[in-house]
Amino acid sequence: MPELPEVETVRRGIEALAVGRHISSVEVGRQRSVRRVGRDAVIHGLTDTTIVDARRRGKYLLFSLDTGDAMMIHLRMSGRVLIDEPSVARPAHTHVVLHLDQTSTQPLHELRFVDPRTFGEVVVYDPADESAVLPELARMGVDPICDKFDARVLQTALHGRRGALKPLLLNQSVVAGIGNIYADEILHRAKLRWDRPADTLTKRQIGLLADAITDILRTAITAGGSTLNDSQYVDVDGQVGSFQDQHRVYGHGGEICRTCGTGRIRRVMAAGRSTCFCPRCQR
Ligand SMILES: [Zn+2]
Repeated sequence: MPELPEVETVRRGIEALAVGRHISSVEVGRQRSVRRVGRDAVIHGLTDTTIVDARRRGKYLLFSLDTGDAMMIHLRMSGRVLIDEPSVARPAHTHVVLHLDQTSTQPLHELRFVDPRTFGEVVVYDPADESAVLPELARMGVDPICDKFDARVLQTALHGRRGALKPLLLNQSVVAGIGNIYADEILHRAKLRWDRPADTLTKRQIGLLADAITDILRTAITAGGSTLNDSQYVDVDGQVGSFQDQHRVYGHGGEICRTCGTGRIRRVMAAGRSTCFCPRCQR
């Protein structure tokens, strides 16, 4: 499932290739991809508009249109945004297509929303109605990349929260954008176990955790995100990410820890999610 670094990589690709461009027409195949507002709202809301900007909050891609409306794309489990020339064959499971006009520097393009498992979404809405159409945005916690984020901000976000650290990192209303892969890598970097109760962290450990969150996410963005064998994540040009080569614990269950050289990475199931950690490094 794409997490903050993958979604940010897609955002940058859309910013480079689609912002400022006019959408001449729109095709919607699968109704499920536009279930929140319906096919007509997406087609009418996007046709003959220009994409003004490309933003991100957590795992949400947000775009302003020159009409004053906005578009949201969420990739969920298996969504992809690909930008290709019309001559490039559309992949299977292409559910929404925005036809982008030619410019002085760009040929005709199709912005394609491809989603085999169809949990993803394309939404067009009036920003004045955002709290009704996208109520989850208002509940979303701090974004560690696009908001100010440091030990103090994290301490505030965790204040009054009880229970194990990993579920709290996955809770989008605490910190936005972190999923299963990056939670494991962040906790390893911070030398904290996944089941460590959040209310037992020292001030120093909160500082280490805040630094680990920004370091891991920034490094992963630089690497273009993580592409796993099962998730098929690619950027708008169809390129895979490379941060999986830097994973220290995720996907390494049973191996000797590369950080300490002596511990063996354990893989446990916690709340239905695979969780990997080094019992020697992480306390
Ligand atoms: Zn270790």
